[in-house]
Amino acid sequence: MSTKLTKMLLAEVIVDVKSHETDRTFQYFIPEELQKRVVIGMRVLVPFGPRRVEGYVVSLTNNPETPLEKVKPILRVLDELPPLTPELIELSDWLCERYICTRAQAVQALLPGGMRFKSTLVIEASDVTPAILDAREKEVLSFLKNKGPQVKSQLLKDHPSWRGAIAKLLQKGAITERFMERTGVKEKQVAYVVLQMDRESLLQKLDHLQANAFKQKEVALWLLHQGGTVRLRDLLAATKAARSTIEALRQKGILDIEQREERRDPYHGRYIGEKEGKLPLTAAQERAYSAILSMLQTRQAHTVLLQGVTGSGKTEIYLQTIEACVQMGRQAIVLVPEIALTPQMVERFKKRFGEDVAVLHSRLSPGERYDEWRRIRQGEVSIAVGARSAVFAPFEKLGLLIIDEEHELSYKQEENPKYHAREVAYFRALYHGATVVLGSATPSMEVRYAAAKGRVTRILLPERVNRKPLPPVEIVDMRLELKQGNRSIFSRRLHEAIAEKLAHREQMILFLNRRGYSTFILCRACGYVARCPSCDVSLTYHYLNSIPILRCHYCGHSEEVAGRCPECGSQHIRNFGTGTQKVEEELLRLFPEARVIRMDVDTTATKGSHERLLRTFGAREADILLGTQMIAKGLDFPGVTLVGIITADTSLNVPDFRAAERTFQLLTQVAGRVGRHDAAGEVILQTYHPEHYAIQCAVTQDYERFFQKEIEIRHSLDHPPFWEMTVFTAAHESQKEAYRLARETERWMRRRFSEDPEVIVHETTAAPLARLHGKYRFHQVIKYKSYKKVKAELLAAYFHARAKAKKIDGVLSVDVNAQMVL
Ligand code: ADP
Ligand code: ZN
Ligand code: ZN
Repeated sequence: MSTKLTKMLLAEVIVDVKSHETDRTFQYFIPEELQKRVVIGMRVLVPFGPRRVEGYVVSLTNNPETPLEKVKPILRVLDELPPLTPELIELSDWLCERYICTRAQAVQALLPGGMRFKSTLVIEASDVTPAILDAREKEVLSFLKNKGPQVKSQLLKDHPSWRGAIAKLLQKGAITERFMERTGVKEKQVAYVVLQMDRESLLQKLDHLQANAFKQKEVALWLLHQGGTVRLRDLLAATKAARSTIEALRQKGILDIEQREERRDPYHGRYIGEKEGKLPLTAAQERAYSAILSMLQTRQAHTVLLQGVTGSGKTEIYLQTIEACVQMGRQAIVLVPEIALTPQMVERFKKRFGEDVAVLHSRLSPGERYDEWRRIRQGEVSIAVGARSAVFAPFEKLGLLIIDEEHELSYKQEENPKYHAREVAYFRALYHGATVVLGSATPSMEVRYAAAKGRVTRILLPERVNRKPLPPVEIVDMRLELKQGNRSIFSRRLHEAIAEKLAHREQMILFLNRRGYSTFILCRACGYVARCPSCDVSLTYHYLNSIPILRCHYCGHSEEVAGRCPECGSQHIRNFGTGTQKVEEELLRLFPEARVIRMDVDTTATKGSHERLLRTFGAREADILLGTQMIAKGLDFPGVTLVGIITADTSLNVPDFRAAERTFQLLTQVAGRVGRHDAAGEVILQTYHPEHYAIQCAVTQDYERFFQKEIEIRHSLDHPPFWEMTVFTAAHESQKEAYRLARETERWMRRRFSEDPEVIVHETTAAPLARLHGKYRFHQVIKYKSYKKVKAELLAAYFHARAKAKKIDGVLSVDVNAQMVL
């Protein structure tokens, strides 16, 4: 290549258009005046068809694909600093390959949401009113006249039957279309007044002012007193000066007005001067710390599993290894599950590292998030703490990637790109020679198994820092309660304990182990739940031609629904599910004097409500905190002396092969909520399956025993971590069409892999959420040993079935390395 050639004429651009047809780069011409600013990773505005869309420059070239005069120019450069680093461009390619998504989707996942430039097609009524209109056209036209401009795609979605009428009205000129553009969030500009001379010259100058210009003198002296630079708004407020006074001073060259960027800091003014030093480490912490440090020093990718119960000092190890990492001139990312990213958690990082921390989570405004992100991109901070997407923090010298509570399912994104933060962390660690630290009291089977195989270094923290033993856990067998005539949600034992705590004015947490829907069938007399003979997941309840049947949605096995329990013959067999609201009603009926805070998706929907409820409880303004999974994490209330688990095994019966693992994790976490401080605590656990190993191991908090048992089952049933699983989901208004669509992927994969012992192609089956938003849903599960081997065919099957889906107005989606199958 010629080294003289410094100028590139063309840019390869990923355009923000969501369709697989546009899932490639497009070439644009770089105008002379933009030569310096169009660099790799830059965000630009480009023409695309009739619109202007956002795009990302991924490479520069001098080889046009089409005649140069046909290539359209880049219109504008949208940022100062390119938002994508070379690493992030590579990462976006990897996301497309690994999770089957478009390039535009991959790029957008890397960046904070609010900054996107959007262009939408809007239609509105024109001045023309044609003489002849049919009834439908009249309806549409009067709707538009009443409501004003409408986003076309949304209107068609809400009123599919209007499609024809809209097309005709456009032809007749009765309505017009145009693109409405909205730039994303921008930096916040604030006007500042800046003194233009030193003290001496100012005083001299003021002496020569007219005698009656006393307001101008006052303002100038005030500004001098303030140090010479003040926000215009503050100056006007403090001096009560008129704009004309400022303007007069400006014309005399005494001051000037400048636009300066002001950062939106979500934590502005908090935690200042509260800096906390590091704690002297315990022997176990010291061992973990030096092990991680020596990995950091190798500058090669490593992964550590830091396994220790809540309170064993994991966070302190994160803090100190981060400090060492920053001293090496490198940067660190800490991921925390969204709901565990509480003010207490943020406070710990802010107090240790002050201004050096950026925080990223969904409760920030788009502007705040954008500014926090830019503090990272511009190298102003070395540490990012955030939820899942913070794994993409645009650092350029990463040393540490920490994932706390690594077993949490929320680390897998459910929309495109359906990435797992742990896998992204591995990618980035490899790129930077960084260390990944996975922290958990109850590691995922995947990670613990990787440690057993030597791919991950496991470091144990065997006890709590304060040496407080874990609380005693008492099991109540709910089958016995029923036998003895108690049909309430509360066992007699739990009822008694609640009454006692209320009498002593002590606080308690009641936990309802529930996940969304309940389609399984339970015998309340003996605990029987129908399960698939080959997958050991509970069967889900479906109607097929209005006959209820039970189905396994992994492998397709089906059987009839029994009217009596096949185990014990009891008739107390039915759909099972208890909502938080119902428990709350029952609680208030039994204990009218109790002050109850209910925490679930309904009571925490508004911004800040989650924190407000927790604060109220923390201030002891309530006796009982009643809630779901949401209350299991990151909470620390010294006043709590009882945790009641209302039905420990609801999560055992969700149709998911991870049910036992989830149950064990949740119970361990919930039990860990008490007795962390001086007050002694107890846990009462109600269950229909007291003998189940997940319950038994949770009671003794014996992770290793649970792991041994569970890993054997996973092995014998061909579940992850021995196999990876990818799920195709087909959805259509007609049940038959949805089924046929899912069958397309099954057939495609069978043709290629029916002889291959390392690939399992399962039968198409109804999804547990068999109908969603008016569409029937079917699943088709593929299991395989190596993604490399199936990748090309998965992609081909996906494109094949998606093309069919398009023709019949259906939806086909794919989830690579699926964690949850709903
Ligand atoms: P985890 O993250 O495993 O739950 P933490 O790091 O939060 O554990 O530690 C639990 C508690 O013990 C915290 O209150 C913390 O301040 C305290 N702690 C941690 N390490 C030490 C130490 N080396 N010396 C004294 N207290 C410690
Ligand atoms: Zn029974
Ligand atoms: Zn099955």
